Amino acid sequence: MRDDFTATTKRLLAERAGYRCSNPDCRKTTVGPSTADQAKSISQGVAAHICAAQDNGPRYNSEQTALQRKSASNGIWLCGACATLIDKNNGADFKESVLQIWKELHEEAVFSELSTGQSDIGLTGWCEEENGSWILRIKNPTTAPFLDCVARAYRVENFDEPFADIEVVFGTIPPRQTISDAVPYENLESSMFGHPVVEVEYTDVNGIDWLRERTGRIRKIEFRRPFD
Ligand SMILES: [Zn+2]
Repeated sequence: MRDDFTATTKRLLAERAGYRCSNPDCRKTTVGPSTADQAKSISQGVAAHICAAQDNGPRYNSEQTALQRKSASNGIWLCGACATLIDKNNGADFKESVLQIWKELHEEAVFSELSTGQSDIGLTGWCEEENGSWILRIKNPTTAPFLDCVARAYRVENFDEPFADIEVVFGTIPPRQTISDAVPYENLESSMFGHPVVEVEYTDVNGIDWLRERTGRIRKIEFRRPFD
């Protein structure tokens, strides 16, 4: 038996994703107008299961209850092509942890766009666990380069204690590029969030300095005149 999402859950996932694909390399819109019929729209979005809806499916988790399996927390909004892609090879190429990071980053970006009105979301940073080490990745999803990029990865022990951190200088991040670096595992090993918090500092093409936290909130930290 399949634990399918209800129509309400599908709509919730779509709306939380801004009706755009959550794959950070895609992010295409999944709805639009029918050009042939003014009374119709076209949708090609999919509420995909992170852990499969049924036995032997991609990333199936037997520990989940039926309720957990069909809940919004087990879903990710994707375009049709990316929904097909993640299930190829029975999901072996797209782990649960990766899809959770996609979802988290995408929802943060959509929230940021919702609250600031900026569709250009700037640099995003995150850490992925790979064969016993952390890989720090910085992505520039825009069509302009970002300069002087410095990323910091934090281990969060508890909210009252200071962070242990790693700083990586990436320099310039070209348009549409993701740059990565390995960071020592032991320094970031235990995080209550499951993966370390990443903060990125950079300068945009207008000479404005930004500080982005993992939460997707953008703070303008300083304005630099071009000829200072
Ligand atoms: Zn897609």
